Amino acid sequence: MLRRTVFTEDHEIFRESFRRFLEKHVLPFHAQWERDGIVPREVWRAAGAEGFLLAGAPTEYGGGGADFGFTAVMVEEIARANTSGLGFTLHSEIVAPYILAYGTEEKKRDWLPRMARGEMIGAIAMTEPGMGSDLKAVRTRARRDGEHYVISGSKTFITNGQNSGLVIVVTTTNPEAGRKGVTLIGVEEGTPGFSKGRNLEKVGMHAQDTSELFFDNVRVPVANRLGEEGEGFRQLIHQLPQERLMIALRAAASMEAMLEKTIAYTKEREAFGQKVFEFQNTRFKLADAKANIAMFRVFVDHCLALHFKGELDVDTAAMAKLLGPEMQTRLLDDFLQMHGGYGFMTEFEIGRAWADARVQRIYGGSSEIMREIIARGL
Ligand SMILES: Cc1cc2nc3c(=O)[nH]c(=O)nc-3n(C[C@H](O)[C@H](O)[C@H](O)COP(=O)(O)OP(=O)(O)OC[C@H]3O[C@@H](n4cnc5c(N)ncnc54)[C@H](O)[C@@H]3O)c2cc1C
Repeated sequence: MLRRTVFTEDHEIFRESFRRFLEKHVLPFHAQWERDGIVPREVWRAAGAEGFLLAGAPTEYGGGGADFGFTAVMVEEIARANTSGLGFTLHSEIVAPYILAYGTEEKKRDWLPRMARGEMIGAIAMTEPGMGSDLKAVRTRARRDGEHYVISGSKTFITNGQNSGLVIVVTTTNPEAGRKGVTLIGVEEGTPGFSKGRNLEKVGMHAQDTSELFFDNVRVPVANRLGEEGEGFRQLIHQLPQERLMIALRAAASMEAMLEKTIAYTKEREAFGQKVFEFQNTRFKLADAKANIAMFRVFVDHCLALHFKGELDVDTAAMAKLLGPEMQTRLLDDFLQMHGGYGFMTEFEIGRAWADARVQRIYGGSSEIMREIIARGL
């Protein structure tokens, strides 16, 4: 593929060590975790011990003090290795940044080092059974009671849900105020009234524990609030471009890896006395795929370079989030087709990657919501 200029030598050294981590601690076990529907907590602690969690958080809070490039490398390697069960980057670069940006000093010192060691796994709970795309319609209610909030409501589709030790809950402190009533509050595992529901059965990402969470008069100190009351919507808007960039990076890496595997497979497999690769249909489809993936790679690396400078805006991140997953699901479907029946077998990587990819167009803001965001700026 193209020579990339966005990463430094240090990033590439880190890539090698993270690959070794995946080979040792993840790849031999991932198929079992897919059957179990969850990644064991020991793997999180192993990742913490080797510095792969909260790489971007300041060292004073137990993080690695590294730039976002190190996280981007991890996103790419997880995608390339097809190990969709690992919720590390959500924990490190979606959950932790809210605490870093909006948490009190006391909470940062309490939560972040435990998260960096992999002892406390982070989740963010926005979606509810009756609400996903329209965040301002959140129903989970947080009522102020002296120096506490009392939270009631339910959430669903929450990544790292079963394993979560800390959940950032998107609540409303003032339902009449719409988006101006949205408030983010941290809730720790074990707090009375907080319970975990089903580990949901999904079409793909089988090793990822995606869960329902319930809050029944859960009482937490006011200090667990992130920022001020009513600031949650603005905080979400501010943090979402990074999440969307990560989804786009995952799409690019997955497409590149699966293109390589499909080329290799079609050069091996024979039909009608020739290699599947030699049919013009195969070669043209693969040529189109390579050209499209290269074009997307240039764009997503451009987004990454902008993000390094703190200049990735909401619209540009939305374009990457729209284009990457749309292209990924289309191309992976073509690649699966070229594998024939073997493509539909879970022992072949393409089938798993295809199933895992489908949700990319849905979570982190659906493709339709991305189009809305882009269209608003036209
Ligand atoms: C595997 C997985 C992991 C997830 N992880 C998390 C997580 O960790 N935390 C979390 O909070 N959530 C998580 N989600 C939830 C995810 O973010 C939501 O499913 C997503 O935002 C869509 O919300 P919804 O499912 O309620 O769909 P809806 O909002 O009901 O949308 C249904 C359809 O209507 C379309 N639509 C909605 N609004 C518009 C509009 N204005 N214009 C045009 N079309 C529109 C949507 O695009 C979609 O096609 C996860 C979901 C999955 C499947």
